[in-house]
Amino acid sequence: MRHLFFYSIIICLFYWSCTPKVTAPLVNNVPADEGKWATFKISEPEATEVWEPVPRKVTANENAFPSDAIVLFDGSSLDAWTSTKEVGKAASWTIANGAMTVKPGTGDIQTKQSFGDIQLHIEWRSPEVVESEGQGRGNSGVFFQKKYEVQILDNYENKTYPNGQAGAIYKQYPPRVNACRAPGVWQEYDIVFTAPTFNKDGMRTAPGHITVFHNGVLIQNHSELQGTTEYIGLPKNIAHGSGPIMLQDHSNLVSYRNIWVREI
Ligand code: MG
Repeated sequence: MRHLFFYSIIICLFYWSCTPKVTAPLVNNVPADEGKWATFKISEPEATEVWEPVPRKVTANENAFPSDAIVLFDGSSLDAWTSTKEVGKAASWTIANGAMTVKPGTGDIQTKQSFGDIQLHIEWRSPEVVESEGQGRGNSGVFFQKKYEVQILDNYENKTYPNGQAGAIYKQYPPRVNACRAPGVWQEYDIVFTAPTFNKDGMRTAPGHITVFHNGVLIQNHSELQGTTEYIGLPKNIAHGSGPIMLQDHSNLVSYRNIWVREI
């Protein structure tokens, strides 16, 4: 009799362990409202509807900055920027007609603010008058955390090495296609940058990624950063935290306007 009771318990436990269990869906890795959710059967559509939390509202009017963007250049001042040669000193690129233009020889400029993961919108224009070729034609660049360059170059009928052309993650990934507009025409980059992470021992625990739309065309799709984008040599992976966005003075009169970021 005792054996029968014992075996019954075992059979019950086995049956219980084999019964499909229904758990609440996860929202931000936390189970949704268990009580409310449990009132539905999994076969009902309401069982998988998640109502909280509600995404906050962001207004994104046509030709305007999103309401939660950090505006880095609106055409009027370089207040958000500093010289890279002498951090703390005012950036001295030229401002005219709502755009800023590289002042050759003054050096790169960088944001005063540091960033981690961001969405960046930036508009750029290479000089209308073509004076050179290859890497010498409308060269500049946008660097994330001062280490990872998305190339800016006039590649409208201008041959160069593909992993160094416009929209390349410099010396790592060429753009998937060439979406360049003609010299002197404004162009847009919309970029999603996810920073690499490092542990306290200085080892990289996750690589960074970059996605780029060039004039609305996808040219980098979550490309995995191999490390820093070096002019000479292999990518480096030395631990770092957040950092400024930097724009390159490559001695060409490249202009910029409408620069904003959203922190992710
Ligand atoms: Mg460059």
